[in-house]
Amino acid sequence: MTVNLLDFDLEALSVYCEQLGEKRFRAKQLFRWIHQRGVRNVDDMTDLAKSLREKLRGVASVTPLTVNARHESGDGTIKWLFDVGNGDAIETVFIPEENRGTLCVSSQAGCAVGCRFCSTGHQGFSRNLSTGEIMAQLWFAEHDLRKQLKRSERVITNVVMMGMGEPLQNYSALVPALRVMLDDHAYGLSRRRVTVSTSGVVPMMDRLGEDCAVALAVSLHAPNDLLRNDLVPLNKKYALAELMDACNRYLAHAPRDFITFEYCMLDGVNDQPDHAHQLVALMREHATGGVWGKVNLIPFNPFPASGLTRSPDTSVRNFAKILVDAGVVTTVRKTRGDDIDAACGQLAGDVKDRTRAAERMARRRITGDQPLVFVANGRTGSKIGLLQEH
Ligand code: SAH
Ligand code: SF4
Repeated sequence: MTVNLLDFDLEALSVYCEQLGEKRFRAKQLFRWIHQRGVRNVDDMTDLAKSLREKLRGVASVTPLTVNARHESGDGTIKWLFDVGNGDAIETVFIPEENRGTLCVSSQAGCAVGCRFCSTGHQGFSRNLSTGEIMAQLWFAEHDLRKQLKRSERVITNVVMMGMGEPLQNYSALVPALRVMLDDHAYGLSRRRVTVSTSGVVPMMDRLGEDCAVALAVSLHAPNDLLRNDLVPLNKKYALAELMDACNRYLAHAPRDFITFEYCMLDGVNDQPDHAHQLVALMREHATGGVWGKVNLIPFNPFPASGLTRSPDTSVRNFAKILVDAGVVTTVRKTRGDDIDAACGQLAGDVKDRTRAAERMARRRITGDQPLVFVANGRTGSKIGLLQEH
């Protein structure tokens, strides 16, 4: 079996080079060929020492994922469906905007958390992706888009781990992938342009803060434990107070950053004025110093099996106004790519549930984000500017 060079972060690749009897710095050259130039074949890496090319030939290569389908939305959003073997497929979404290009990356085939409003969650869990499979999504998208757009410079400026799966339940594969995204010899993305979104795996939030403190988004969706237990079952294990404490500890590793709290607006379930007031109280109670979190309201992308519906715009606006009036920075996510089922919560890929009887969802998830919104202005809550997400 050949080694997949997409599985390595720079340190691991340096060790691999040493094991082959080569100098560690060869890994940097390899990294640049693979990640910056998109070259797959070691024979095409012309300035690489001949001895190394010979050693790698036949034993190591870049293993891409097979593309099952590609869809392009009227708004420019692109969704790829990748085959990851054994009947499983995952999805990756590119969301172009004026000044940036965001890639929404999957971390698992399916998800074990089982949130009520999420079609990946309804699908069940099949397996973790490897580092190479996470990286293959970025590697492919970046270099495919460069070809398509005839660009030689970087197309993807931001990565969000908001595709299928709970990234912090696949920690050991996630962290090397994040390191490659940040590495100057690979994608060179800044820490703040790579976002891990989590439903609240508290111990792994602590580890991520220590190992690789990228931007953090926490999927909150409810301002009290009773409701959150129902919407995000992981809350029964890590309750809100514990989760908020973990957010504070995380910020100690990421000074001057803030946490984005994701809040999916579900009609009549979590979108009432009282929920907004509770959310303000929760954030005040746990904010240890100054502004430390912002709320991103996500219009729910419905799918039939959820039995849930999207909050009307007026509820979203009222909810946002209560937060803003209380001084909470609030954005409303603009849904992108919903005509190709690429919006948040619509990414379903095609996953064989290996944990329970597979109940197949018709539709699936993911999305882009974006901004719109109000920046809190204390007492008046007037709109004082546009806020960029990342
Ligand atoms: N498992 C991680 C990351 C993937 S989900 C997490 O839960 O954070 C990425 C985001 O999409 C989360 O904020 C999630 O709550 C949201 N989401 C899931 N299903 C959705 C739906 N049907 N409509 C809108 N947003 C949804
Ligand atoms: Fe999993 Fe996130 Fe979906 Fe919840 S919202 S089921 S954690 S992918």
